[in-house]
Amino acid sequence: MTTHTADHTDVRATNLAVVLRFLRTNAPCSRAAIAAGTGLNKATVTSIVGDLIDRRLTKETQQTQNHVGRPATLLVLDGSAYAAIGMEVSALGLTAIAYDSAGGQLLRWHRAGPGADASPAKTVAALAALARRAIAAVHSSGRDVLGLTVGVPGLVNRDGAVVLAAGLGWRDVELRKDLVAALSRPAFPVMVDNDANLGALAEHRYGPHAGSANLIQLSGDTGVGAGVICDGHPLRGNLGYAGEIGHLRIKPDGPLCGCGRRGCLEALAGIPAILARLDASDLPDADPQARTEQLVRRAEAGEVDTINMLTEVGTLLGQSVCVLANVLNPELVVLGGSYAALGRWLVPAVEKELIDGALAPEAGGCQVVVSTFGHDATSIGAVARSLDRFDSGRLPVNQTT
Ligand SMILES: [Zn+2]
Repeated sequence: MTTHTADHTDVRATNLAVVLRFLRTNAPCSRAAIAAGTGLNKATVTSIVGDLIDRRLTKETQQTQNHVGRPATLLVLDGSAYAAIGMEVSALGLTAIAYDSAGGQLLRWHRAGPGADASPAKTVAALAALARRAIAAVHSSGRDVLGLTVGVPGLVNRDGAVVLAAGLGWRDVELRKDLVAALSRPAFPVMVDNDANLGALAEHRYGPHAGSANLIQLSGDTGVGAGVICDGHPLRGNLGYAGEIGHLRIKPDGPLCGCGRRGCLEALAGIPAILARLDASDLPDADPQARTEQLVRRAEAGEVDTINMLTEVGTLLGQSVCVLANVLNPELVVLGGSYAALGRWLVPAVEKELIDGALAPEAGGCQVVVSTFGHDATSIGAVARSLDRFDSGRLPVNQTT
């Protein structure tokens, strides 16, 4: 009897998730369209939709004429009850974004610092303070928090501990555990993931090429990381460390990398490395984003040294991406973060290396594009990660169906 009940609950939760995911992609749509699109029978759909309406996850909207001229009520997602929070720690500072469960943005905050020389404890405290403000803002909008996910540029293990984040100077930081404690053990799940993994999820879910089953997102603001979606799923590897392309050793006698080795891609072609090569007297602003903008202006003005440097960076990125293209045969390589702002000069060099260097003709159909998310891809992916957990049937209320 217990087993039977558990099975029934599982089936119900699965069906709720199937309908929610269908609505996330296809709303507004009718109950009949949900039945046709999911393969569930109409009675089940009617019952599931009733449940989702009770939970304030779905609502009815205007009536429309169906194909035989009869009125049909359409369903849309209801974002009035829940929201997910996505955060990022990077060399640019801290970001918090919240979206309601229907995909409406509730807040987007960025704060500078605490800076690369700050202790991890200080950064975690600042992150927790920003998280508390975001949680309070979601609550004051009348919504419950579904989950909070943080993206970090480094190796994140499956317990949410940051084993190494060279660009932040972090080693063995128990970020998830510390954040849970700082937030007084919240009722919602707190997760930590690699920034590029989340950036890739954002592209896969919401980008202009959403749904592409094989894509790689290159993050570049702090370290250089590759988030990989392979055959429709995030590629994580044994301990969750897959995608650390930034530490491919390009020049064994090259500059020192934050990881302690020499000549890593990150030390040669990461955004901090590029900015460090600029003449500081010409670029007095210490803010990396402002410096990147100045770099763009120089390239736009046709400064030969700047354009040559960007071509060299694009070539190094292209050689490294070529390794990934040979191994993974992606359809799409997305340049994220500050690389996107420099895409006009980087993309041609990356494409050239891919075409010249990949074994497959035309690089196996791989296209190189720039992200449209600016610096928000990681935070948006973090929101998607919390929503995914929700869409997979782990609903927070009325679990007595
Ligand atoms: Zn390195």
